[in-house]
Amino acid sequence: MSKPIVAVVGRPNVGKSTLVNRIAVSREAIVHESRGVTRDRSYHEADWNGRDFVIIDTGGIESVKSQDVFAPRIREQALLACQEADVIVFVVDGATGITDEDEEVARIVRRVDKPVFLIVNKKDDPANEQDGLWDFYALGVGEPRPLSASHGYGTGDLLDDIVACFPEEEEANEEEDMLSIAIVGRPNVGKSSLANRLANKKRSIVSDVAGTTRDAIDTVIQWKGMPIKLVDTAGMRKKSQVHEDIEYYSLVRGLQAIDRADICLLVVDATVGVTEQDQKVANMAVDRGCGIVLLLNKWDLIDSQQKRDEVMASLSKRMAFAPWIPFINISALTGRATDKVLAAAVKAAEARAQQLKTSELNNLLAEIREGGHTRSEKGRRLKIQYCTQTGSKPPALSFWCNAPDLVDDNFERFMENRIRDRFELTGTPIRMRFRQKN
Ligand code: GDP
Ligand code: GDP
Repeated sequence: MSKPIVAVVGRPNVGKSTLVNRIAVSREAIVHESRGVTRDRSYHEADWNGRDFVIIDTGGIESVKSQDVFAPRIREQALLACQEADVIVFVVDGATGITDEDEEVARIVRRVDKPVFLIVNKKDDPANEQDGLWDFYALGVGEPRPLSASHGYGTGDLLDDIVACFPEEEEANEEEDMLSIAIVGRPNVGKSSLANRLANKKRSIVSDVAGTTRDAIDTVIQWKGMPIKLVDTAGMRKKSQVHEDIEYYSLVRGLQAIDRADICLLVVDATVGVTEQDQKVANMAVDRGCGIVLLLNKWDLIDSQQKRDEVMASLSKRMAFAPWIPFINISALTGRATDKVLAAAVKAAEARAQQLKTSELNNLLAEIREGGHTRSEKGRRLKIQYCTQTGSKPPALSFWCNAPDLVDDNFERFMENRIRDRFELTGTPIRMRFRQKN
């Protein structure tokens, strides 16, 4: 079972990073954010009362003066972090009172149906902890709790209560080993058309009675004798009533589906090209260890070289951070290449479940060493002693070395490329961790 996730959200300068540093085992982030997309969230390991969990710091958002630039980024980081988390810690500044940005974050937090702890930080003096505290009730996210991230006061009680919210630890009781696939993408790209194609049924799109389909419905299909679960087919069909909510709804629903899937089929409207939102969703899938196959749908409408070039340009621009994502040009309408979709998904799932041979990994390391590729700084030189796979689905690799701090993004990317050249890893993210070998 994956570890519970706690997201720490709030506007800049309220003390999120200070709090995360107090709670996390180390300042070292677990996963480097996928390059070129965002550095605004970092993930850290933590434990309390014997429960391991992951804490997300959204403290990387630099404070930009202009409201126009700043509000959307706060909203987005808060949204993404909340979506990923099991428990949300919403931090406000007890020294300044409620601001517009706090309200902005509160709106996001209120929409997510998860336990929320409202932390009024910078209450350094317990004697004054009640001062102004109750004003924060107005945010509508529950009872404000005083805390001092820099002094530590209040953090133990907070952690007790957070851990109490975690789901019971289960035995490895996977429902079944059935491959789960999520079909995700922006509204109107053709998700439901594709789902119907894959299900091999020309089902008409039933308009759901309001309120009856809040819960996800999965569809199990058969492919070459293999059962495959299409996650949340209800979410693909249900359209939001409110126009401005459609994008939001589809994003949230998509992220929830990704959480339950091994592989996501990221459907893109080829006539529009790969958008920033598609890039975000791909990035989220990578963060969650979900495999990805990208589908350029409505290819029947791409009838000129110019249109083809435009789609391909948007693809290489937006997906440059993960060149291992395979793509297929399809048409859910005509059926063009849709028979290749499940084959690609199954292949990505196999790559994702792979056990890489330790001996082969270390042969590769030896070659890299002989090639003289390493990092050095101020007279110190990175030496990687050995590598093993420490996790699967997706493959997680640990590199034991003398000085993990010397590893930078470039070097990490270099290692990832070399590993991908050597092993068949199309369609799956991989995790790499550089650890101190004493
Ligand atoms: P973030 O942008 O929300 O991650 O905020 P930081 O963690 O970077 O903190 C912003 C500023 O508030 C820093 O100068 C911190 O030292 C300060 N700060 C954080 N927590 C506390 C606290 O509990 N008490 C006081 N007095 N200052 C704090
Ligand atoms: P969803 O909102 O992502 O589930 O998208 P739908 O499956 O409801 O499709 C949105 C619209 O795009 C509908 O009018 C479909 O008929 C149309 N559509 C879907 N796939 C294709 C395709 O491959 N080619 C063309 N030309 N239209 C498509």
